[in-house]
Amino acid sequence: MSDINRRYVLVVNGKSAGDPALRAAVAKKRRAGMTLIVYATWEAGDAALFAEMSVDHGATHVIAGGGDGTVNEVVNGLMRVPREKRPALGIVPLGSANDFARSLGLPLEPYAALQAICRWDTQPVDVVRISATGRGKGVDEYYLNMATGGFGAEVTSSTPKFLKRLLGGAAYSLMGALKTWRHRSYEGTLNWDDCEEKAAFLLVALGNARQSGGGQVLAPRAKINDGYLDMLLVKDFGSVRDLPQLITELRQFPARGRFVRYLPVSRLAVSTDPSHPPWPLTLDGEAHRFDAFSAEVVPLALRLAMPANSSLLIHDDELMHHDDFQPPSDTRSGYAEATGDTPATEAEKPH
Ligand SMILES: [Mg+2]
Repeated sequence: MSDINRRYVLVVNGKSAGDPALRAAVAKKRRAGMTLIVYATWEAGDAALFAEMSVDHGATHVIAGGGDGTVNEVVNGLMRVPREKRPALGIVPLGSANDFARSLGLPLEPYAALQAICRWDTQPVDVVRISATGRGKGVDEYYLNMATGGFGAEVTSSTPKFLKRLLGGAAYSLMGALKTWRHRSYEGTLNWDDCEEKAAFLLVALGNARQSGGGQVLAPRAKINDGYLDMLLVKDFGSVRDLPQLITELRQFPARGRFVRYLPVSRLAVSTDPSHPPWPLTLDGEAHRFDAFSAEVVPLALRLAMPANSSLLIHDDELMHHDDFQPPSDTRSGYAEATGDTPATEAEKPH
């Protein structure tokens, strides 16, 4: 689509509406001929509503101006629009963490971000639908970046540094963190594809992209257009003697470790025993508690303005290999050593 036929709507978080760099960028792009309408949010829900309404104004692109929460709301608004009419998504990062924008490699300065959105072709990307129920309420939402559940979700929503320490840290800092946060695990039954696992989990992360919580890379091998969620499971440990193994696995992301599992799934359902506490689940920085939730990929549901050479995209020449997904051999042998058990069987592979 040539730029002359594009109509852009910028949905900006009200908190950032007066940002001088953003105002200057919008003015400059308009002078250069960009058709750009701006809506600033007043209260929660506005960004989704404005994104949905933008179709009535003939928008071809809706630009989310804000942090990951604004992007999330705009995605939910766009997903209410029938697919054939759905505008493409652009992002002008204005938040403090901007995890999603950073993993896409987007410019972080408003003018450069608008320039890039005008210049780039859009790429079809997966969107994740999440349904959760518990304590009399339910949500049915979409996300583009990452969902985290369990103990990790509670602490990551309040302490962005926690998992960074956990993933990169030594045993003493891990123990310190766990003590500070009165370490607890969540019992649950997980079902994905043809597999089931019942255990006590510290963390479950479902990455469409790679990082959340202010730079914590929880899904390092995620691709945003492969039809899979990268699932990270971190199981609870029994004693301090297990910590070195847990930390090693947190650095390697093995397909089947003793404590850590990392694998692509197209769908995951989590349910808890009614006698156990409900799970915290974080979708956009805030944790809510649910007794059950399920996540499912909606393949290539949205077009996104992003660099065509991004490492988050799986390219045509990689697709045929991806169908034969195999975890790296070093992590498989790591599992065998750790448990004396055999590596993942054929049935446990995602295909
Ligand atoms: Mg994926």
